Amino acid sequence: MSRTIDEVNKKISNGEANIFTAEEIKDSIRNEENLSFEDVDVVTTGTCGIMSGTAAIFHIEVTDPGVFQKAKKVYLNGVPAFPGPCPNELLGSVDLIVYGTEHGIKNHQYGGGFLFKDILNGEKIDVEVEAVDGRKFEKQVTIEDFQRAQLLGTRMAFKNYTAFINPLDDVVNSIFNGIPTKGAFDQFTFSGCGELNPIQNNVSRTLIKEGTKILLNGAKGMVLGDGTRSSDLKPNLMLTADMLQMSGEYIGGFKTGAGPEVYDSIAIPLPILNEKIFEEVQILNSEIPLTIADIHGRHLPLSETTYGAVWDGHDERPTFNFNRFDEKINEGIKRACPTNAISENGTINLDKCFGCGLCVYLSKNGTYNMNIGSVDFDIDDRSFNVPITCRQSDIQRARKIAIKLKRLIGEGEFEL
Ligand code: SF4
Repeated sequence: MSRTIDEVNKKISNGEANIFTAEEIKDSIRNEENLSFEDVDVVTTGTCGIMSGTAAIFHIEVTDPGVFQKAKKVYLNGVPAFPGPCPNELLGSVDLIVYGTEHGIKNHQYGGGFLFKDILNGEKIDVEVEAVDGRKFEKQVTIEDFQRAQLLGTRMAFKNYTAFINPLDDVVNSIFNGIPTKGAFDQFTFSGCGELNPIQNNVSRTLIKEGTKILLNGAKGMVLGDGTRSSDLKPNLMLTADMLQMSGEYIGGFKTGAGPEVYDSIAIPLPILNEKIFEEVQILNSEIPLTIADIHGRHLPLSETTYGAVWDGHDERPTFNFNRFDEKINEGIKRACPTNAISENGTINLDKCFGCGLCVYLSKNGTYNMNIGSVDFDIDDRSFNVPITCRQSDIQRARKIAIKLKRLIGEGEFEL
């Protein structure tokens, strides 16, 4: 049995398409509802996590034309930007490339990811330009002043990822944990949205390829092709979209043991054209392997678990117990929160929260609570049980963007 993309689009425009999120498909399997190929026209998938290959291309006016020849150095809220490639000679404006992983020169806990969220949230951004003749110019801008902003992800939406532990007695600073990773076997950190992940639901890659339409941080965008270092074993995608159409809720900074990083949210629609494609979207967390690697050097696999062990049955957001709140202890937890979601009085800003779980691990006295789980695994003949201490993917944002895409398709605002 099969159907064409034109037939799917026709059903969508007639308001007759059966559109499901990947999560609804998985839930139907768990509930033994036995959906068949005939019942499903489109499945929307989603992922959200740290994506270090994120960069933004901006064009901003700084002075009147002719005031300086060209920019040598540029900073946005203290985050270094790369002027160019176009020098914009004597135009008073700058073309810039800003990395999501770039760290602020003064505030090392602020970086490109935080800057992108601030821009999209309409915050005032300090622009400092040093011209080639050494003169400096300053300006404050908001998103309204960006003539052009395009986000480019050189490697995004990885087909799930890796979990990390520290098997030694030292402490490792790494981007793979919100804090330095203590050993031995004290912390378990992982990335990947498991059964919701786009590529995981189309492992044959018959649908997700160059030109595929997507939602990137809420904006309509497209797949440019495979991402850098993409391989059959570890595929990822190069993506782009107009940043001015994005929403700040889907993108932001995430502090790690090695400085601030950037997270993004992506949704990709899968038209269910044949039985094989329908079979692929039925994979469950419990069937998706998750390699556990040594955080030293990151490539040494030590053991394996599944995404079922890290996601299924666990809470997605922490709760705050005011009765256990201690101002002094909380200061450190507030500082460690990767997305700055914890306030002075201990309450959690749930719009900023990533559900990473670090506050739960750090508040030994139960100020923050969440069933985040622990993972059993073997290395050689030894068995371990290590608590999950930092999730670097956010299942709530992944779900939310997949639902948004389902809605847009259903309303005829997103053609496949
Ligand atoms: S789970 Fe806790 S530490 Fe993590 S982002 Fe939310 S409030 Fe911050």
